[in-house]
Amino acid sequence: MYAPPVQRLITELSKLPGVGGRTAQRLAFHLLRSSDEEALALAEAIREVKARIGLCEVCFNLSDGPRCRICADQRRDPELICVVEEPSDVISIERTHEFRGRYHVLGGALSPIDGIDPEDLKIEELYARVTDGGVREVVIATNPTTTGEATALHIADGLRAAVPEVTVTRLASGLPVGADLEYADELTLGRALVGRRAV
Ligand SMILES: [Zn+2]
Repeated sequence: MYAPPVQRLITELSKLPGVGGRTAQRLAFHLLRSSDEEALALAEAIREVKARIGLCEVCFNLSDGPRCRICADQRRDPELICVVEEPSDVISIERTHEFRGRYHVLGGALSPIDGIDPEDLKIEELYARVTDGGVREVVIATNPTTTGEATALHIADGLRAAVPEVTVTRLASGLPVGADLEYADELTLGRALVGRRAV
């Protein structure tokens, strides 16, 4: 129906989360109407982020160098590690200003149905980090969803077996069940963090 380059753009846009065929078509026509500068600025932003942003070698948060800003910050408590599913969760927790430790980003949650097993997440890397010593508490802040809870239980069991001397805590209830941390407001998330309990 469209010239091949237009069809290609629509196909690529429709792969984005939350963008269906009609939205992809609307975005494609918007880009076609835009000036060269405007449209290419988007292409350049995508190119730059893919070229310059990788994962922190310690915590697997997004980083523009070998170590992210949080791991490189000497004022952050290295004895306290908060485990989250995605880099966006780091942002949510940082917004609460209630956490002064470091993070560990798993890269998702366990979901056998979707083929996501422990080895697909940065779980072994977490155990290695904690058994290396110098860690007092691990706060598990996976989402209050079925997959997030399953992941929390799996990690709590693994940590208890590997490093029984380390305290393992979970965010307090009060978070909307079934929702992602991303959508929790700062106050609720901050309270859940302060009221975390041992698991
Ligand atoms: Zn890091």
